[in-house]
Amino acid sequence: MYIIVDTAVSTSNAVGPENARAALDLRFMQRALGLGERARGTTGDNPHVGSLVARGEAVLGEGWTSEPGRNHAEVNALLAAARAGHDVRGATLYATVEPCSFEGRTPACALTIVARGITRVVFGIRDPHPRVNGAGAHLLRRAGIEVSEGLCAGPIRASLAEWLRGH
Ligand SMILES: [Zn+2]
Repeated sequence: MYIIVDTAVSTSNAVGPENARAALDLRFMQRALGLGERARGTTGDNPHVGSLVARGEAVLGEGWTSEPGRNHAEVNALLAAARAGHDVRGATLYATVEPCSFEGRTPACALTIVARGITRVVFGIRDPHPRVNGAGAHLLRRAGIEVSEGLCAGPIRASLAEWLRGH
């Protein structure tokens, strides 16, 4: 499970690098949740996912799920970073839902993330689709990417309640 730091307490000089990273993770996942909400009602049977790519405190690109058959949120965030001229190698990708691991109407996001040189992925909830459900995380880890899951899972489940009921 993820440890959420109390940011009200962690403003002291005693903040260690682990706590600082956890505070950034929380900030960026909450941001991703808001990005996902922008796609609500436009994604058909896909979940309205939010994603962003960051290096340290700097956001390199943001995205959300396109209409069915078009890009998923993670790919849109990577494309936004590329359009802005950012090199995403060694950066962290945040996504509210586990990156998909199989080619459906679009290429697998997990493979795209690996190909772009992302070295850390933080996602909120697993994709309950029987062909994903942990397989996306496994694919990323097998490629040497550090993966954290579970951050903001409660609010993300609430945001995607309708989609989750369909599984
Ligand atoms: Zn995907």
